[in-house]
Amino acid sequence: MSTYRFSHTDAVHAGRDDFRSIGAHAPPIDLSSTYPVGDPDTATASLDALCEGQAQAAEPVYARLHNPTVARWEQALARAENAEAAVAFGSGMAALTAALLSLPTDRRHVVAVRPVYGTSDHLLASGLLGQQVSWTTPDRIADQLRADTGLVIIETPANPTLALIDIEAVVRQAGEIPVLVDSTFATPVLQRPLELGAAMVMHSATKFLGGHGDVMAGVIACNEARARGLRQVRIATGALLHPWAAFLLHRSMPTLRLRVERAQATALKLAERLARHPAVAQVHYPGLSGQDPMGLIGRQMDGPGSVLAFEVHGGHESATGLLGTLKLITPAVSLGSVDSLIQHPAGLTHRVMDEDARRQGGISPGLLRLSTGLEEPEDLWADLEAALDRIASRRERAA
Ligand SMILES: *Cc1c(COP(=O)(O)O)cnc(C)c1O
Repeated sequence: MSTYRFSHTDAVHAGRDDFRSIGAHAPPIDLSSTYPVGDPDTATASLDALCEGQAQAAEPVYARLHNPTVARWEQALARAENAEAAVAFGSGMAALTAALLSLPTDRRHVVAVRPVYGTSDHLLASGLLGQQVSWTTPDRIADQLRADTGLVIIETPANPTLALIDIEAVVRQAGEIPVLVDSTFATPVLQRPLELGAAMVMHSATKFLGGHGDVMAGVIACNEARARGLRQVRIATGALLHPWAAFLLHRSMPTLRLRVERAQATALKLAERLARHPAVAQVHYPGLSGQDPMGLIGRQMDGPGSVLAFEVHGGHESATGLLGTLKLITPAVSLGSVDSLIQHPAGLTHRVMDEDARRQGGISPGLLRLSTGLEEPEDLWADLEAALDRIASRRERAA
């Protein structure tokens, strides 16, 4: 594991290199859809450069080609991942779409490990973008590689089971095939896949990077050559990040580490208590003893994060019943917000998968996924405990 860390200093200052020269203290929001052309030949050269995928040119020309507010946040995110570049999109799914569309046309076969985020699973399995997918397990990746394989996709920690995958071991098996890691759950605070050999790291920035439940975005960090391919796709498909969203994301950067570390400390407390509650059959959280058999925390991750999943006794009925009883924790999809969110993967985020795939991915009817926010841990536990006590006593009465 490398010694690079996304420091608090980086978090505060990244992407702000030009502030003194432009006399700004907060990121300026540039809402221009077009830009006045100065010298026409310079504008033409700028257009050519941007359409070839360069990060910037003498003139921005048109907002689909370049936006300075978005570019600043991309620089900040690249710093966080210790990457050459980052390319931002209007959502996590738009980012994954661009990664798939940027593959050479004769390399559209993808090897992927389940479980992944439900819609990522759907996008891959549906072949919507003309790609083929082979699903496999982390130890069988090498067996699935073909002459036309263009990408290996993994998600770690996985949604919603929190299973961890050894990124370095996957990269070794993939050989020269690029590996994309969806690192949404870990954030660059806890995991930097590029340093472990991954070619691309993807985030649904809607989650921790935005962090306040008020922005949708996606991003891929990678080397400059790949970033050019992604920018070309972004220009051609128009899967842009709006500058207002980029402003919010940039505003969230200085507190990213504080939020992730605080929420993680709370998740650990709740996971331990959930594991002891009689209404809970099982807790999935890599921070619990015995749940990180490969020893990846400390080697690959700086901590287990702040998303956990737990199975309640009584399956679907108990799980959905619990959601209805909570008063503080919001029953909602998404994660990584300042407030705690809980949801039922089988009925919501992973509903789009077919049932066999769900079962194969360990997504049972009684499974709930909890993303801890920044509230007082004791208040969160009181809310959970009251709801779980109700399940336990109802089951006792029924028995
Ligand atoms: C939410 C999520 C996505 C999809 O991102 P959107 O911003 O909703 O498009 C992809 N991967 C993971 C792990 C997610 O949690």
